[in-house]
Order: sequence, then structure tokens, then C-alpha cells
Amino acid sequence: VPKTHYVIGVDLGGQSVKLGVVDTHGAILIRRQVPIDAAQFEEVLSRLIVQQIDALFTEAAALGKEIAGVGMVMPGYMNAARGKLLFAANLPTLSGSDFLDHIRDQVPAKIVFDADCNGAALGEFRYGAGRDIERLVVATVGTGIGGAVVIGGHLLRVVHHISGSLGHIIVDAGGRRCACGARGCLETRASGRALEAMAAKLLKKDERVSGEEINHAAVNGEAWAMRAVRECGWWLGAGIASWCATYAPQQVVIGGGIAALGRSYLEAVRDGLHEVGQPHLTANVEIVPALLGANAGMVGAASMMLHGKE
Ligand SMILES: [Zn+2]
Repeated sequence: VPKTHYVIGVDLGGQSVKLGVVDTHGAILIRRQVPIDAAQFEEVLSRLIVQQIDALFTEAAALGKEIAGVGMVMPGYMNAARGKLLFAANLPTLSGSDFLDHIRDQVPAKIVFDADCNGAALGEFRYGAGRDIERLVVATVGTGIGGAVVIGGHLLRVVHHISGSLGHIIVDAGGRRCACGARGCLETRASGRALEAMAAKLLKKDERVSGEEINHAAVNGEAWAMRAVRECGWWLGAGIASWCATYAPQQVVIGGGIAALGRSYLEAVRDGLHEVGQPHLTANVEIVPALLGANAGMVGAASMMLHGKE
């Protein structure tokens, strides 16, 4: 029996940081989540993360577990050596800073960095819904839309270490301008933000309608909420049709906050895919919810250290 190893996985998002001690099989031994204020200075954020990592080292030691290293993921583009965060829209103070150097210098173990969409994809491929799939796309649909492609067990890295900006393929060329500067991106139609905007419009409301409210109303059969969920899912399916033309995935895993919308949402995604997509490329594509849920990025980050850099 091979020895079980333990590593720390860190998933830094725009609103919180999730950390965990994870074993060789993807099981989470210790987990913690701390809110962050993304407007804080780089020094404050790196200190907070180092403190949290240190606390996990201490907790693991108390259980007699030795930590073999740390894998950390976050949104944004990194340089070629994955040692510098060049740009992260949701972490503005960290863009172009020495954030990764400061963390590496203070963590008492080997550490690797990667993009959060890559972490989630490896997590689902190695331990979750996408196990043993030859051509896999893992999409994370939250405030925005991220995605990564795993082909033959390897992450497809095109530029900036990501498979591409999968949330920014154009699905509605005559539509709205996206935050990224392009027009009609998938993200403007199918993200959590798009869902909230659609719900507010249907309700003729000026204030924000949260994802939780929409989900609750949809579960209770309220027409406006069901329509918003349906449209948002349909557009994601339309986007997946283009991913199918590009990567020919056998399976597409849907994770992120939006997965909480459940079955009717996934049905809408499948309907959009089959209405829009090329029949022979989309007929047999499985659309499945992520198994690791909100932990996918953290578990995937840890697995980068366990399985090598990918
Ligand atoms: Zn865009």
C-alpha cells in the first residue's frame, strides 16, 4: 500500500480564501474558509494567507500528519514561470505585485501556483465527476465564467497557463459589451451576474436580486425565476456548443455557485446545447454537475502538488 501524503490546497477568490489539508485520494482532512476584502493592500492579503497556511501546518502536526507542500490557485493571468500574477480583475491590488513572491518566501514548504479554473478542472478530473474522461471541459459558473480543458489527463495550457478564456467566447455579437471589452461574451448572457440582471429586469426592479432569491423562487415555481434560470442555462448551452466545435469534449462538468440551481437549470443547458450545436458533435456530450462543489479548486490545487505540476 503506497504511503498516504498530505498537502495543503489554497483557493483564493474575490470574496474569501478556502484552505484545506488534503490527502493523496482527494479527501479533505481539515478545512477552513476566511472572508477577504479584495480592496486590501497586497501586504495585508499575503500576511492573512500565510497566517492561515501556518495555522494548518500546526493543526496537521497536532494530528501527526506531515505536510509535503502547498498548491495555491487564484483567478487571473500569471507569467510563464507561474511566479507572478500579471492581472486579476477581481483582485485588483494583487495585479502585477510581488504577492506570489511574498507568499513563497514565508511558507515553510514547496509551493506551486496556478489558475483557479485549472485547479477546479484537475480536481474534477482526478477525484470528481470527470474521472477517466479522455476529453473533458470543466466550467465554473459563478459571478463570471471560467473553464479549463483536460485532454488525455493533461491540462490544455495555451497562453497564461489557461486553456483559453472560455467565458469570453462570443455568443451574442449584437449584444451587450462585456467587462472584458469584447461584445456579446458568454459571460454577459450566462454568468451569475447575467442571471441576476435578467431577474431584476423581469421583476422590473432596480435593486439587486440575489442568486439565492432566484433559486428559492424558482424552486417555488415562480414564473419570473423559472424563466431567468431557463434563459441563463440555455445561453450556457449555446456557449458549450462552441466549446464542442473546438474541443469535442465527451463530457462537460458544470461547477460554481450556479450549479445550486439544480436539475431544471441543467435541462436548460442541455436544451440550449442541442438546439444550437452541430448535431454530430453535441449528440453524445454529457452535461453533468460538479461533484466536488465549492471545494473543487482547493482539492485540485492540492493535487497539483501531489501529482506534479501538470
Ligand atoms: Zn468578455
